[in-house]
Amino acid sequence: MDPKRMFIRLAAAGAAVFAGNILSTLLIRSTGTGIIKKVEGQKGIALTFDDGPHPVYTGQLLDLLKKHQVKATFFVVGEKVDAHPRLVRRMKDEGHEIGIHHYEHRSNWRLSPRVLRRQIGMTDRAIRRAAGGAPVLYRPPWGRLSPFTLSVARNYDTVLWSHIFQDWKISSCRNLADRLTKVPEDGSVILLHDDGTNPGADDAAPAFMIRGLAEYLEDAVRRDVQFIPVKGRHRHGH
Ligand SMILES: [Zn+2]
Repeated sequence: MDPKRMFIRLAAAGAAVFAGNILSTLLIRSTGTGIIKKVEGQKGIALTFDDGPHPVYTGQLLDLLKKHQVKATFFVVGEKVDAHPRLVRRMKDEGHEIGIHHYEHRSNWRLSPRVLRRQIGMTDRAIRRAAGGAPVLYRPPWGRLSPFTLSVARNYDTVLWSHIFQDWKISSCRNLADRLTKVPEDGSVILLHDDGTNPGADDAAPAFMIRGLAEYLEDAVRRDVQFIPVKGRHRHGH
């Protein structure tokens, strides 16, 4: 094949894959098929934290949650679990749920099924090594799905969110407590971040997130807001 035609074919194939990824993400997110965006039929709010564990902020966050006796769900990055296993053990010991967020913080739009399977499997094993117990929840980085994400992740419940706050930017954390207060107690799933080292995030953003969350929890616990786990279809021990 001449190079020009080859290039056109490759470009067309690339565009088709790109369009397939975007369409899958939009379709699955909008219909909610096969994913959890809210804890259906439950009163309360599920707090979820992505991208950790972080050597400084995750410990501070765990202290805050412990102070208010609030349980949350952490979607952890496998390589950070291997770097800081004690923090993951602590999450488990203090009653939090631990889910998978890829071994490296990489988008599904750039992963083949084989590489995705490895990313999930390596994170699953890192969590088992650090904390014991089999993870049952999975959240794809940036909430991005490809046409085969759900089938590769079929042994887990794929969890997205109902409320997101751009808390990976320091400037967005200024009125975080006020915005959190507006979240309804009807199974809402809140997404926050205890690590700010991904591209596009502010490294110190979790310090500001924790400050805003502390302000919110002080008030929410007084109002007796219920914080609930993300309950999936899959039970522990599958
Ligand atoms: Zn993430």
